[in-house]
Amino acid sequence: MAAREIKRTAGFGRSSGNKLARIVVKFGGTSVATVERIRQAARHVKREVDAGHEVAVVVSAMSGKTNELVGWVNEASPLHDAREYDAVVASGEQVTAGLMAIVLSEMGIQSRSFAGWQVPIHTDDAHGAARITEIDPTELDKRMKDGWVPVITGFQGISPHGRITTLGRGGSDTSAVAVAAAVKADRCDIYTDVDGVYTTDPRIVPKAQRLARISFEEMLEMASLGAKVLMIRSVEMAMAYKVRLVVRSTFDDPDAPQVAPDGSDTGVPGTLVCDEDEIVEKQIVSGVTLAKAEAKITLRDVKDNPGVAAAIFGTLADQGIIVDMIVQNIADDGATTDITFTVPDSEYDKAIKTLKDAGDRIEYARISGSKGGAKVSVVGVGMRSHAGVASSMFKALADKGINIQLITTSEIKTSVLIDEQYAELAVRALHTYYGLDKKDV
Ligand code: ADP
Ligand code: ASP
Ligand code: MG
Repeated sequence: MAAREIKRTAGFGRSSGNKLARIVVKFGGTSVATVERIRQAARHVKREVDAGHEVAVVVSAMSGKTNELVGWVNEASPLHDAREYDAVVASGEQVTAGLMAIVLSEMGIQSRSFAGWQVPIHTDDAHGAARITEIDPTELDKRMKDGWVPVITGFQGISPHGRITTLGRGGSDTSAVAVAAAVKADRCDIYTDVDGVYTTDPRIVPKAQRLARISFEEMLEMASLGAKVLMIRSVEMAMAYKVRLVVRSTFDDPDAPQVAPDGSDTGVPGTLVCDEDEIVEKQIVSGVTLAKAEAKITLRDVKDNPGVAAAIFGTLADQGIIVDMIVQNIADDGATTDITFTVPDSEYDKAIKTLKDAGDRIEYARISGSKGGAKVSVVGVGMRSHAGVASSMFKALADKGINIQLITTSEIKTSVLIDEQYAELAVRALHTYYGLDKKDV
């Protein structure tokens, strides 16, 4: 990666580069896809151990494994019990935890694998999308103090009823951050197949630049808006427990000098996800995100009475349908209005059916909609203090002839819904417009 990363230098309060630290490292699916890659990943662990740090490892399943397991469950029965889904899909992580412990031991590092229940990592009983409620750090703490490297299965925990749970897809990030919070780690390093967080998905925009730092809030927005480099919940948790995250590449040479992309004294290559006050040069726009497969639904001539929106969205929520963007028009005759909102394409048919079946509880004249939308967003903490970001975004899209269907904003982001066929064009146009393109590509 050329040295053209956006510089966001700051007075760095604490250096974890030279002093001895406690580090939780997580390896994603592509990083542990084969035994050879597990060996490569283990060399990063060895470097930290050799430097005198205390290390705990969290692993994902080998890439593709979880999809295969989910496929088998659905093949066995589309109407399976969620408890058995978890029993099956959690198994991928057990394989990699054991293999990683074997490889580390072979390198001369004392290591032992731990399944979620052995730590234990307690969760609620929402099988398939469980939330971690508590982690008992006693055993991990003891192992690390005694010079062992515990290797913990990501993605899984144990319910109040003693059954295996899983945390939702991409959940190993959350396991890692939760373990880091529980053992009071100085840092949580998320090793993946990119060398940091980029201004946008580098697979879509080759001119995307690696960020040296990004604030928790920006990262949370980016993850929520489609940048799947980190699971949303993991960022929420890192923000709540002030866990400093580093996103870095497993495929970097483990023996290369450990230098931060912006030359600052973190002593860690990759993107540091940290508190906003550690970032001095605040970009107006730090990143552009894309989420495809967004369906749009419009209810026309909805009665303009108190409680109507609550009835519509309550009915959808009761069915577990997650609604994203919502726009309601002012009623011009004072009696009826239109409401438009988005749901994932996969929930479109269910949402339409739910609203049609709701009958008299929701009074509207017509329902219409379409699948195949794309939500494109620009994110940046600098938006708080700069006016006009939304209007400049609309202009940049208009210049490319892209029609905007819906708009939503928050303090640090503006999102638009557009036709999916223009999604990549829009992302590239905005990336260029806000000066985020790398110069030497
Ligand atoms: P892992 O298996 O290690 O958890 P993921 O596939 O979940 O890895 O996340 C890494 C991927 O996230 C990258 O390969 C990249 O394509 C994608 N990605 C999307 N948006 C971004 C972004 N803004 N910066 C970096 N990577 C991104
Ligand atoms: N193996 C799980 C998945 O593919 C969890 C993870 O990799 O984070 O979703
Ligand atoms: Mg992931």
